Amino acid sequence: MQSEYRPIRVALLGAGSVGAQVARLLIENREELAKRVGAELQLVGVAVRDTKAKRGAEIPQDLITSDAESILTGADIVIELMGGIDPAYDLIKKALNSGADVITANKALIAAKGNELIDLAQQLGAQLYYEAAVGGAIPIIRPLRESLAGDKINRVMGIVNGTTNYILDQMDSKNVDFQSALKEAQVLGYAEADPTADIEGFDAASKAAILASLAFHSDVPVEKVHREGITSITSAQIQTARQAGYALKLLAIGERVDQGLVVRVHPTLIPLNHPLAAVRGAYNAVFVEAESAGRLMFYGAGAGGKQTASAVLGDLVSAAKRHLAGGPGLASSTHANLNVLPVQSTRTRFQITLRVSDQPGVLASIAGEFAAQNISVETVAQSVPGDGEPAAVLTIMTHIASEGDLEKVVESISKNKAVVSVESVLRVEGI
Ligand code: NAP
Repeated sequence: MQSEYRPIRVALLGAGSVGAQVARLLIENREELAKRVGAELQLVGVAVRDTKAKRGAEIPQDLITSDAESILTGADIVIELMGGIDPAYDLIKKALNSGADVITANKALIAAKGNELIDLAQQLGAQLYYEAAVGGAIPIIRPLRESLAGDKINRVMGIVNGTTNYILDQMDSKNVDFQSALKEAQVLGYAEADPTADIEGFDAASKAAILASLAFHSDVPVEKVHREGITSITSAQIQTARQAGYALKLLAIGERVDQGLVVRVHPTLIPLNHPLAAVRGAYNAVFVEAESAGRLMFYGAGAGGKQTASAVLGDLVSAAKRHLAGGPGLASSTHANLNVLPVQSTRTRFQITLRVSDQPGVLASIAGEFAAQNISVETVAQSVPGDGEPAAVLTIMTHIASEGDLEKVVESISKNKAVVSVESVLRVEGI
């Protein structure tokens, strides 16, 4: 195709799961992309650590280098798909300083340095794109950043980590324990050899910080995201939840509360008829509640080389068009400057499961502890423990209460002589 414009020079940092697929699509769809953009997209270099390694795409060997900095020179657009903070952070800054637009899928980096890099880009007349950093193939960054920019979002709630959703789903549907489900996720490539970032909720916390920052036009440091992982969840808990009409999911939640925001990641009960309860396997979904738009759900593949490459290519076409049309890039939007408050400011429902001694007066004594903190109890169910011990299991569902008050009740209940143990405290959302 003849174009009035010179080719747009694209440098690729990283050719692993995602990068190799981006390279493949750039090479295979070269003509079609040129038509969509109005100029050719020319891959000018691909930086990797091991230049001899076999790649998931046929990348011309003369484009491959281990000298990442060298391919930044003269690039119009730099795509960072290396992961991690170092050297990605420095390379992105160098790319922006040399006038290039930058595309990244690096949630850890965006959560830690996103607003700084977005503003640096804007000051330099460039733009930072990061659609693939949350939810893989799912378009969610652009809808929050642009499509919903005229609305007021009250809450974002999402399943943003496919590994943990896969594990919880296996524990639910196959009644297997956490370790077996994790092993299977590792065999299938859904979980890494070191699964800490996923199962302890670090990955979801980074994504929660990114989503909340965009949704609430505020700076949300990842350190202020309350984080709990799924390692202590048992399949018995999931089965009991299902019998009571709930699914147990690791949710990332950002919401407005009095005086600011709370952003949190933790295992959560949601009613089985809530759209997020239907998100199975390694899929992701983000549920947005906005004042005018109402409830929206964005659903799809949250990871995978090819799927994530789709989001990167979408950013690439946008960046290339902006490169041709010119004009300023988008700045960060933190003008609302809402405070990110501790999780104790959350108001939600709770399910508390207690093992108590099976004797008269226990129920009244426990109910009194809730009343003392002004927490209203909706239901109490009593069952016998599965292990045949001479005790009773109480499952208490509260009305909406403050997390701070609930913590006080749990503390006093655990000292109550009739209570053998507090088995679990779970937040309940989506009612
Ligand atoms: P990956 O498979 O580990 O690939 C990383 C690539 O970067 C490799 O090609 C590696 O080279 C290269 N690299 C790393 N450090 C380098 C350095 N210092 N100098 C030069 N090259 C270097 O990672 P990935 O799964 O594609 O993920 C890339 C990014 O996308 C990450 O930020 C990740 O969080 C994000 N992401 C991934 C997915 C997914 O499904 N995988 C989904 C959403 C977002 P070698 O190949 O030679 O080691």
